[in-house]
Amino acid sequence: MRITALSGGIGGARFLRGLLHVLGPDDEVVVVGNTADDIWLFGLKVCPDLDTVMYTLGSGIDDVRGWGRLDESWHAKEELAAYGVEPTWFGLGDRDLATHIVRTQMLQAGYPLSDVTAALCSRWFGDLRSPVRLLPMSDDRVETHVVVPRDGVDTAIHFQEYWVRLQAAPALRDVVVVGLDSSAPAPGVLEAIAGCDVLLVPPSNPVVSVGTVLGVPGVGEAVRATSAPVVGLSPVVGGAAVRGMAGPLLRHLGVEVSAAGVGAHYGARSEGGVLDGWLVDESDADAVAALRGTGLVTRATPLLMPDVASAAQMAAAALDLAATLPGRTDP
Ligand code: GDP
Ligand code: CA
Repeated sequence: MRITALSGGIGGARFLRGLLHVLGPDDEVVVVGNTADDIWLFGLKVCPDLDTVMYTLGSGIDDVRGWGRLDESWHAKEELAAYGVEPTWFGLGDRDLATHIVRTQMLQAGYPLSDVTAALCSRWFGDLRSPVRLLPMSDDRVETHVVVPRDGVDTAIHFQEYWVRLQAAPALRDVVVVGLDSSAPAPGVLEAIAGCDVLLVPPSNPVVSVGTVLGVPGVGEAVRATSAPVVGLSPVVGGAAVRGMAGPLLRHLGVEVSAAGVGAHYGARSEGGVLDGWLVDESDADAVAALRGTGLVTRATPLLMPDVASAAQMAAAALDLAATLPGRTDP
């Protein structure tokens, strides 16, 4: 079976690690990773979501933090701070730095991000028999910026600064995904969506992870058109994002922060949306009735991922639901 998944960072990566546990020997997964969180720091290209997926699936992640490398040290960051070099708020560990240095060198040698990502992944996923391929959503530079009040003046800052340094505390005036409209899908992205047997939307941030992937011109259209069934999993459980700060972003879009609200925001493909099936947590079973009549086939199942086994159960539930759905016969 060929599975394609659209992923952000931690929610996507943990789900995908569970998915790998339930794959058969002939199954393959293509991950289309969000790159709108990418940022240039100290002359280095940092791709937080691609790296979270790569490290998580390659057993190199710090599982407690959920990002960055296992067994990390922070000497370079301390030295930069001692020189007074800004920014000091982004967590760049020593081991992690090596990834960004290799990536930046390859980009500067002229390779597109998709080739660079494949080269980095060959270390983490092993040889060509790996069942996983990680593609950036685009080789073009795309960056999510947000507008927040600073000293009384509305100011655009990189999403990472809003998220990591400001902890999403300031009022969110606007979200602007710079470069998205003129970006093109990376090689292989549209083919992976059109040619898969199942398309999964993991419990990633619906706005700044999945939303940006879907916003690359051609990607949303490919999702709407694929003959594969499309199943999503809610990142919102019990009226709040399980982790992180999807709440302010959803509210900014006028989306209710609930499993039903996010499901309705994605919408059923039969009604012009992007999903056929939607999994919500058991505690949100009321969403099944709330979404009846919207065209989305909704099921309640445990959606928390404290360990790999629970993520694997979620992946199995998503594939089970997909198997009951016809997909689109009129693409
Ligand atoms: P980011 O790029 O690192 O923010 O990661 P993603 O966009 O992939 O995922 C962030 C989303 O994952 C957040 O909105 C969380 O609510 C969601 N999330 C994290 N852990 C879990 C979990 O155990 N279960 C569910 N359902 N969602 C989760
Ligand atoms: Ca992210």
